[in-house]
Amino acid sequence: MTSALQIGIIGLGNVGTGVAKILTQHPDRIRQRAGRPIEIRRAVVRDLHRSREIDLPQGVTTDRIESVIHDPQIQVAVELMGGIHPAKEVVLALLEAGKDVVTANKALLCEHGDEIFAAAKRFGRTVCFEAAVAGGIPIIAAVGQSMAANQIMGIQAILNGTTNYILSEMLFRGQSYDDALKDAQKLGYAEADPTLDVNGTDAAQKLGILAQLSFGTKVTASEFHVTGIDKLEQVDIKHAKDMGYVIKLLASVKLVDGKLEMSVRPTLIKNDRPLAQIHGPFNAILLEGDVVGNVWYSGRGAGQLPTASAVTADIIDLAIGRAQLTFAQLDLWRDTPEFPLIDGDAASSRYFLRLSVEDRPNVMAEVTGILGRHGISLATVIQPEAPEVDDESKAVPIVPLIIMTHRTTAGCLAAAERDLDRLGSVRSPRMVLAVAD
Ligand code: NAP
Repeated sequence: MTSALQIGIIGLGNVGTGVAKILTQHPDRIRQRAGRPIEIRRAVVRDLHRSREIDLPQGVTTDRIESVIHDPQIQVAVELMGGIHPAKEVVLALLEAGKDVVTANKALLCEHGDEIFAAAKRFGRTVCFEAAVAGGIPIIAAVGQSMAANQIMGIQAILNGTTNYILSEMLFRGQSYDDALKDAQKLGYAEADPTLDVNGTDAAQKLGILAQLSFGTKVTASEFHVTGIDKLEQVDIKHAKDMGYVIKLLASVKLVDGKLEMSVRPTLIKNDRPLAQIHGPFNAILLEGDVVGNVWYSGRGAGQLPTASAVTADIIDLAIGRAQLTFAQLDLWRDTPEFPLIDGDAASSRYFLRLSVEDRPNVMAEVTGILGRHGISLATVIQPEAPEVDDESKAVPIVPLIIMTHRTTAGCLAAAERDLDRLGSVRSPRMVLAVAD
C-alpha cells in the first residue's frame, strides 16, 4: 500500500477538532477516497492545558508551530488558527518549507491572497481553500473546476449564516434586531463579538475570494459597497413583507459591460425567489454562467463538521494529487485584473426608501419632486395612515413614507438624499435599501 500522507494541523479549535474527528473516526473511508491513509502527525494549539473534545495520541498535540514547519515528514499543513497575523507569516513559512497548505481563512486570503499565491507558485506548492467560502458548500470547486467551460456572469449569495439567522428571526418571530442577535449568540450562531458578521465584513471577504476566482480581480472588502444589517429595524422587515419581499444580506457581483458591480448590503428580494427562501443559519449561492445558465448551491456555510468536511476534501485532493494539477492552472491573483470594478456612483439598482416625514400638506410633493429632479422614477409610494392627533398638541406628527423606486444609479440617489436632508419636513431616521432584480 502507498505510504500514509502525514499532515500537521495548526489550530485545534472548532474546525481543527472537526477535521481531526473526521480523519480519526472514518479512517477506512478516508483511505479509500485518498488512495492512502492520512495521518495527523502534529496538531498545534496555543494552550496545551485546555481540555479538548478529541484525544490524539501522545506527543501529537504541541504548542510549537515550528514542529510542523521544520518536519520533513509533513507534506500537508492545515492552517486553522484564523486571523491575519501570525497566520500569514506561518502560511508563508510553510510554503517556503515545501508544504502544501489547506486553509479556511477567508480574512487572510481576501487581504493577502496575492502574496500567498505568489509564494506558492515560487516554491512550487499548492494552496487549497474550499472551506474559506460558505463552509460545507463546495463552491470553490464549483467556480474553479466544475464551471470551467463558462465565463461567470454574476453571483448572488447569502454568505453569512449569523446574519441570515438574525434576519429570519426578525421576519418570522417579529423580533427586534437586538433580541434576534442575543438569541443567535445563545445558540452559538453568533460570536460574543459579532461585529465582522453583522457589519458585512465577513460576507465581503468571502465575496472578494469568489470575485477573484470568477473574474480575476483582486478586491478587498474596503474597495466596494459594504453595509451590514445592524441598522435594520423591525419596521423595515414588515414594510418589505407587506410589499411581497424579504430582506437578506445579499452578496452580489455581476459583470456589466466589462466591469464589475459588486456589493454586500441588506437587499429586498421578491419572496418567490429561491434566495428569499433560505432561512436560519444557512448559506446559498446562485452562479450564472454564460454557457450553463443559473446553478444553485445551498447548505451549511459554517459550523464544525460542515467546515471540516470541506477542509478534509481538500486534504484528500492533495493526497490524490488532483489539487496540485488544478492549482497550477488557476491563474489566481494575477497582476492585471481581468475586469476592473465599476465606479460606485455608476452602479444601478432599484431602491426601497423609508423616510420619516412631517404629516402636513405638500410634503409628499416636495419629496417626490426632489426624486424626480434627480431622474428617479417611482414604482410605489405608500404613506400609512397617521394615528389620530391630540387637538391640544402643537407638534406636527411624524409618519413613515415608503417609496420603491425604479432602477437608478447610486450617484443619483446620493444626490437626491443630499437634497432631502435640506428639506425641513424630512426627519431622521431614513432607511435606504437596494432591491434585487
Ligand atoms: P477557533 O475555534 O478560534 O480555533 C483556533 C485554534 O487555533 C485554536 O485551537 C487555537 O489554540 C489555535 N491558535 C490560534 N492562534 C494560535 C497561535 N498563535 N499558535 C498556535 N495555535 C494557535 O477557530 P475556528 O472557528 O476553528 O476557525 C478556524 C479558521 O476557520 C478561521 O480562519 C475561520 O475563519 C475559519 N472558518 C471557521 C468556520 C466556523 O464555523 N468556525 C467556518 C468557516 C471558516 P487554543 O485552542 O489553544 O486557543
